[in-house]
Amino acid sequence: MINYKSYLIFLFASLAISIGLQMILPFPYGLGAALALFIAFPLILRKRMMNRMRGGFGSGSGSGSGNSGGLGGLFGQNSDKPGIKYECLVCHKVYNARECPRCGSSMKRAMF
Ligand SMILES: [Zn+2]
Repeated sequence: MINYKSYLIFLFASLAISIGLQMILPFPYGLGAALALFIAFPLILRKRMMNRMRGGFGSGSGSGSGNSGGLGGLFGQNSDKPGIKYECLVCHKVYNARECPRCGSSMKRAMF
């Protein structure tokens, strides 16, 4: 609501400025300047809004960064955890090592 109101104010202000510009500047330049204003004003408004939103989100993500760090730690733990077992393709023994302890074969299948 506030943004819409400020947008209207900007629109009328840019309209007034564009009329003034066309009075001051010769025809093609005045029109160009007015068009540039009409294009630039919404963009500036949007940029301001985005910055405000980003600021709001920034404070939120600041506290959230700790969570993401914890998530990284979780992933690290997952990679270290001996959860993956292997089944030997030769003698079908399930083991948790690089090679089969029974037949010494490195032919294995990962089991989750
Ligand atoms: Zn084996």
